[in-house]
Amino acid sequence: MLEKAIEQLNTYFGYSSFRPGQESVIEKVIEGENALCVMPTGGGKSICYQIPALVLDGTTIVVSPLISLMKDQVDALTAAGISAAFLNSSQSPYEMTKTLEMAKSGEYKLLYVAPERLESVSFMNDLREMKVPLIAVDEAHCISQWGHDFRPSYRSIGKLADCFPDRPVVLALTATATPVVREDICKQLQIKQQHTVMTGFERENLSFSVVKGQDRGKFLREYLKKNDKDAGIIYAATRKTVDQLYDSLKKGGVSVAKYHAGLSEEEREHAQERFLNDEVKVMVATNAFGMGIDKSNIRFCLHYQLPKNMESYYQEAGRAGRDGLPGECIVLYSSQDVQLQRFLIDQSLERERIPMELEKLQGMVDYCHTENCLQQFIIHYFGDLDASSCGKCGNCTDNRESHDVTKEVQMVLSCIVRMGQKFGKGMVAQVLTGSRNKKVLDFGFEDLPTYGILKEHSAKDVTNLIEFMISEELIGVSHGSMPIIYVTEKGKDVLLSKVTVHRKGTVVTKQISDDDP
Ligand code: ADP
Repeated sequence: MLEKAIEQLNTYFGYSSFRPGQESVIEKVIEGENALCVMPTGGGKSICYQIPALVLDGTTIVVSPLISLMKDQVDALTAAGISAAFLNSSQSPYEMTKTLEMAKSGEYKLLYVAPERLESVSFMNDLREMKVPLIAVDEAHCISQWGHDFRPSYRSIGKLADCFPDRPVVLALTATATPVVREDICKQLQIKQQHTVMTGFERENLSFSVVKGQDRGKFLREYLKKNDKDAGIIYAATRKTVDQLYDSLKKGGVSVAKYHAGLSEEEREHAQERFLNDEVKVMVATNAFGMGIDKSNIRFCLHYQLPKNMESYYQEAGRAGRDGLPGECIVLYSSQDVQLQRFLIDQSLERERIPMELEKLQGMVDYCHTENCLQQFIIHYFGDLDASSCGKCGNCTDNRESHDVTKEVQMVLSCIVRMGQKFGKGMVAQVLTGSRNKKVLDFGFEDLPTYGILKEHSAKDVTNLIEFMISEELIGVSHGSMPIIYVTEKGKDVLLSKVTVHRKGTVVTKQISDDDP
């Protein structure tokens, strides 16, 4: 069977061999085992179900949430001589009935359907008449409440497999899934956890960095000037910032387009087309832009504001360098953006999801404060603990010498303990720097022995040190109505002088304020 698969790969797609993960996924599927395939964007997930679809008898159903992507896929397959079609809300009832009739007569090798369709009983009944060897679930993390993009309609997929007299194989595919989400996907789709294939999370051609304490507007202008021949995306967290950035860059002569959900469909399509066709170099956008965009020559992906979690970040940043040539992924960090993201989370979600989203946001903040390899941090986050340092991210190439900061760290930890582990980092920093703030005085913290012991530093520097300590897991954060910091087991070891702490960033740094254009 595998030989036949390679033959099909060659005939229809023109590739001579599978990538490592592809072969093992395809093997499982062809042998009739449910499987989960976790590969980064651009890793080649589509082939993992398209080849089995060609090899197996009948019509493979592909559940995909992205209408535009479905059409692109079907067009590409049709162009390669593979019969395929899609069913989604963009079609007229007539088109839909016609496609369904053709599907029932076994006309297609692949049928793409939107998850919402699966909520219709009559649609499910129609599907029952088809011979379906395989159900591929694209963007499978949408099935999990623990994921970053939960879609309730995905819950119907579990039932879909039960519809058919001969239970089809289920293949779940995703680019972003933490260990918890992977476990949930497996549980819901009856996949044995050992049938998870995870590969290539490292994107060797991408170099990651975090820019902190700099004037973002100035950094951006200089960066774009230096890279004016390259295509890139600048992500911002809100439509308003996208509009502002777009105006200011355009005024500055940058070849730029903008994209966010507040624009009309026509405007969005036009902007996207111009960017895809290299008519403009830079796209300024909210996270509404990029799903299903296959532009290979994106050289940089800058996050002007902090993304809401690592999953979103890696997915967005991963749009750089899809052609395998170098790509640069930079987060421009400002602590105000953490507040902004907290606000957005608080506004947009059901209450019970908020603590989890705040925890994910903390992961993103930790990324911005770690001094370890950034690529490795990302890969660890996604559950692969074997990853080694990349050697080229902002942290790997940071040649500053590291200092022993054990004493300062102990002061911070001791202050947290003395304040009863009931406050956030801002308040702790104020006590350590000897603030006369009303709240500090109301609690009588000026009497603590740790009051003012770091007074030669700014509150901002001390907050940065605390952020670093959080990323080092010396301090934990519990996300109730307000984030509260506490000393972890690892932190206790530092307090007891069992281990020392080193840091490259000094505690004393010049304070530079952000300047939004
Ligand atoms: P994903 O869905 O994981 O984001 P795609 O399936 O779109 O990725 O594949 C990304 C790119 O890699 C596509 O251009 C695809 O044609 C190419 N590709 C996939 N598999 C192979 C392979 N075995 N050999 C060479 N190129 C491949």
